Amino acid sequence: MKLYNIALIPGDGIGKEVIPAGQKILQTLGELEPHLSFECSVFDWGGDYYRLHHKMMPEDGLHQLKGMDAILFGSAGDPDIADHITLWGLRLKICQGFDQYANVRPTRILPGIDSPLKLKHDGDLDWVIVRENSEGEYSGVGGRVHTGHPIEVATDVSMMTRTGVQRIMRYAFRLAQSRAKKHLTVVTKSNAQRHAMVMWDEIAAEVGSEFPDVRWEKELVDAATARMVNRPQTLDTMVATNLHADILSDLAAALAGSLGIAPTGNIDPEKRYPSMFEPIHGSAFDIMGKGWANPIGTFWSCVMMLEHLNELKAAERLMKAIEHVTAQKQYHTRDLAGVATTSQVTQAVIEALGHVG
Ligand code: NAD
Ligand code: MN
Repeated sequence: MKLYNIALIPGDGIGKEVIPAGQKILQTLGELEPHLSFECSVFDWGGDYYRLHHKMMPEDGLHQLKGMDAILFGSAGDPDIADHITLWGLRLKICQGFDQYANVRPTRILPGIDSPLKLKHDGDLDWVIVRENSEGEYSGVGGRVHTGHPIEVATDVSMMTRTGVQRIMRYAFRLAQSRAKKHLTVVTKSNAQRHAMVMWDEIAAEVGSEFPDVRWEKELVDAATARMVNRPQTLDTMVATNLHADILSDLAAALAGSLGIAPTGNIDPEKRYPSMFEPIHGSAFDIMGKGWANPIGTFWSCVMMLEHLNELKAAERLMKAIEHVTAQKQYHTRDLAGVATTSQVTQAVIEALGHVG
């Protein structure tokens, strides 16, 4: 019997709706799989916590999470608190505190979901984007002086280290190697950014020589957006900087049908710390409290979590149940032009889990 301790951090907005749905799925899996169970601990951090304590999470928050096997996270973002406070005070604090340097975002078009792309074959869009998650454009290096004066200066310095680039390249090449196509696209902008991005390209070539069986190429980030739309089947695994991959992965999610479906993992590949899994969407202020949030992004994040924990059979079972449900239009939420509610979709996946096993 394997017992996993899972930290649930619903956070803000629809995070408080989709994470309890994810908890139900984990509980159901624990009941169905004889060797598996989950002990979930809920942490009430986020905007409401901030209103009471003037911070998004307690000082010893990382310490409280450290012994967990994994974290399932909802969203950080509150209508009344500035986004840089909610983001840096909670989500980034965990990502950076636990050195979750690889952000991994699979994209596929699930059965029953319409993509804005007109694809000829199933599987014409099957990507994994690897995002550098610890430095680059979001390193937090920079400053602001002479505020309000005409001579005001503000900088955000993109900082890249040899160690940081090497480890993300190695992770991406290894991931590409594990997939059928063994193909990696290294996204860059070394024509315009002639220091860090040139080093990025050089290190890609160095690491690439360690993986002779992986076919790889460079692509400029602007050209990559067009290629994702026009020739999606020519891409498989991609690796990009923090900012570039942030943008490319939202594009990927939209091309796959909806932001409400897409999952991500913030991973510490060395497993020194718990990794954190989350739907890629935010708090969705426009629909919060209505019961309309699509929980599929959270459920797919649970699949990634199970894969990370090496519970491959349970991961496959949950993915099958998700696909069984998305295939039926009656279970599409409003973001997919349907009318189903969060709880109806959750119930349908719970029922599907019982017969796909
Ligand atoms: P958003 O993802 O919250 O919403 C964008 C649009 O997609 C909205 O119309 C929303 O209704 C819809 N949508 C998103 N998820 C959905 C779901 N599961 N089901 C149905 N519809 C869904 O992005 P935003 O509006 O740019 O940001 C709102 C807040 O969330 C901001 O404070 C932002 O900083 C925060 N945010 C947090 C994260 C995170 O914690 N990882 C990510 C993105 C945005
Ligand atoms: Mn984003």
